[in-house]
Amino acid sequence: MLGAVGLDPEMVSGRLPHEFSGGQCQRICIARSLVLNPEFIVCDEPVSALDVSIRAQILNLLEEMKARFGLTLLFIAHDLAVVKAVSDRVAVMYLGRLCEVGPSEQLFAKPAHPYTGLLLQAIPVPDPDVRPAESVATGEPPSPIAPPSGCRFRTRCPRADQRCSAEIPELREVAPGQFVACHHPLA
Ligand code: SF4
Repeated sequence: MLGAVGLDPEMVSGRLPHEFSGGQCQRICIARSLVLNPEFIVCDEPVSALDVSIRAQILNLLEEMKARFGLTLLFIAHDLAVVKAVSDRVAVMYLGRLCEVGPSEQLFAKPAHPYTGLLLQAIPVPDPDVRPAESVATGEPPSPIAPPSGCRFRTRCPRADQRCSAEIPELREVAPGQFVACHHPLA
């Protein structure tokens, strides 16, 4: 399995944990989960601690393992560029509740929830001539142990009104396969 994740078993078998790089440690983690012959793996922020140059290698490795072993991956991440690269279907959460769920391409092309829209605006563009978009979300996220009434995003949402503070929005389908929990969706 070490060979399958790109490590030479002869070279690595006598090494101690601190002698591995971050990328090698992540490869070992993937090998450890694969020896159990799983069908489903939860990857919780698997590349957030890695250099950008190593991230692509690990993401490619996960894609390769997914195809080779017929895996389903639940990929949890804050970096939407990474999410876009690896996901078939995306769920966006805010303060512990689902805001939006949909096919990856559709959700990134036409976000329906204001929070998703703001997250997509915040993805950095690798071009020095492009200025980052100014976020219109104000304030700090509220405490998860005392969330606001109604919609949990209402204290930071530019579209919030009375209904948003009175009524919890339920998930409803706004396009084929795309569900949003919002009283005033973008699309
Ligand atoms: S329900 Fe209201 S506050 Fe919540 S995201 Fe939609 S518009 Fe904003």
